[in-house]
Amino acid sequence: MSVYHFKTKSAEETMAFAEKLGSVLEKGDVLTLAGDLGAGKTTFTKGLAKGLGITRTVNSPTFTIIKEYNGRLPLYHMDVYRLEDSDEDLGFEEYFSGEGVCVVEWATFIEEYLPKERLELVISHIGEDEREIQLTPLGERYEERVKEIMQ
Ligand code: ADP
Ligand code: MG
Repeated sequence: MSVYHFKTKSAEETMAFAEKLGSVLEKGDVLTLAGDLGAGKTTFTKGLAKGLGITRTVNSPTFTIIKEYNGRLPLYHMDVYRLEDSDEDLGFEEYFSGEGVCVVEWATFIEEYLPKERLELVISHIGEDEREIQLTPLGERYEERVKEIMQ
């Protein structure tokens, strides 16, 4: 299993990288997105949505748990923070094996429902406007996507 890294120097660069990733994603792809508050998870998701052909503004789904957007493929943006200490299953499997792309924030809270194959993303602060995006593809299909955008 390989781990990939990509550094950005601005929110725009993070969005552009995410957009590139969004443009190669396919139906059924599942991404987990981690990072501290202000790391750039929402910024990243905005770029990803653009790459999926979504024109609506993407905001944090904290109070809704799952937000759905329509583009070239549907995007299911999930923030499962509020499911900590709960075994609640909101029908995750149907989303994960569905027609769209899933982005899950705080994914460790629903570890038991996550597909084994997925793309794990972690965004870290390295400076005021600098971030490092770590990509860990779990499974061949995700390795392909990452290689494609890292070229
Ligand atoms: P999170 O969703 O992880 O809490 P946000 O995306 O809401 O984070 O906020 C990230 C903030 O950091 C935004 O204000 C964004 O403009 C700023 N920022 C500065 N540099 C970067 C960068 N390289 N990548 C992403 N965001 C950045
Ligand atoms: Mg956010």
